[in-house]
Amino acid sequence: MAVLDQLTSQEAIELENKYGAHNYHPLPVVLSRGEGVHVWDVEGKKYYDFLSAYSAVNQGHCHPKIVDAMTQQAKTLSLTSRAFYNNMLGRYEKFASEYFGFDKLLPMNTGAEAVETALKIARKWAYEVKGIDENKAEIIVCENNFHGRTTTIISFSNDPVARKNFGPYTKGFLKIEYDNLQELQQALESSNTIAAFLVEPIQGEAGVYVPSEGYLAAAKKMCEDHNVLFIADEVQTGIARTGRLLATCGNCSCEDKNCSGTPEVKPDILILGKALSGGAYPVSAVLANNAVMNVIKPGNHGSTFGGNPIAAAVAMAALEVVADEKLAINADRLGNIFRAELAEFCKENDLVKSVRGKGLLNAILINDTEDSATAWNICIKLRDNGLLAKPTHGNIIRFAPPLVMTEEELRDCIEIIKNTISDFKK
Ligand SMILES: *Cc1c(COP(=O)(O)O)cnc(C)c1O
Repeated sequence: MAVLDQLTSQEAIELENKYGAHNYHPLPVVLSRGEGVHVWDVEGKKYYDFLSAYSAVNQGHCHPKIVDAMTQQAKTLSLTSRAFYNNMLGRYEKFASEYFGFDKLLPMNTGAEAVETALKIARKWAYEVKGIDENKAEIIVCENNFHGRTTTIISFSNDPVARKNFGPYTKGFLKIEYDNLQELQQALESSNTIAAFLVEPIQGEAGVYVPSEGYLAAAKKMCEDHNVLFIADEVQTGIARTGRLLATCGNCSCEDKNCSGTPEVKPDILILGKALSGGAYPVSAVLANNAVMNVIKPGNHGSTFGGNPIAAAVAMAALEVVADEKLAINADRLGNIFRAELAEFCKENDLVKSVRGKGLLNAILINDTEDSATAWNICIKLRDNGLLAKPTHGNIIRFAPPLVMTEEELRDCIEIIKNTISDFKK
């Protein structure tokens, strides 16, 4: 069998099973093409993508402007390493820093690397600026967090599957309940060796938990009062997903550009990934102002691919698409329609308890036990009916389509979801 021969879905799945490590449990569908809000499997069946690669493909699959930027740059210069300057990186750093309103950007590739970067910056700041004794700095994190899969990050996860038998774990993390200001206050007061508070503005992987109104702003204020850095992990919530350029933007208006002007909460360190490239290429970044970022000196941190010219070109194009096509506004509007329709449906159907989310990052809670296969089986039926989604935690299904969706397409999808669940027999 030649490598590029057409495969059936079954053959492709068998190959992955036999030759690939079993570190994922994919829904059984084998995709070979994507365009906008749609993907096609190897047999040619068309689907709505309601996961968007965990919100990496906010700009839609194979967006022509992003693909053009990528292929042009790939033909010109792909990688220099940071041993030399290249003519794209500085341009991108200026563009993205101004776009999000920070002094500086540190480029990496994956989300987990950007989180690691933020943790390192926060610790170094704690020793060199705040004056914490060496090796004493602690970082506050939240229960049920998801920040990636590296050894340090899983050290402060409480997902047993992600954690067990990967010890010994990295020290220096203090866990508090999410959306609990009292616990944050206590943690901040418990010690004078706190460097930072790391938080997801909405907990995506945990099941799209939206914190109480005002939580982020109050948490930020508490951190300020204790000279503690507020780190927002917006790898999943950022780049227009929640109906704002950033989920920390709060309720400012997105009329003109994307509300980067007056955020409700301005993090000291902002972590971005996923849709920063529109899903075309691994691009992540950490943004901060000089008072924080300047603790990083040559040799302290780096990555061979971080800040490569293709990544720089792709990220600039991806961010331009977000502004040009007003994706934050679209996500906000469609999200309101989605939740209103699904909330009505929850009242009349026993199988779904509730819908929650912000913008186009939403989830429905299935009325069954957490260890039941019901949510998974509903996702299989959704697949059969032309819509791809995946359970997050047991009985929760996340719905996160590309933000380039039209209202007509969204209403079509709402019908598919309602009909699938209405017809579903356990
Ligand atoms: C996906 C994600 C990450 C990790 O990103 P990778 O690119 O998979 O390493 C980190 N934080 C959050 C909130 C995420 O959703």
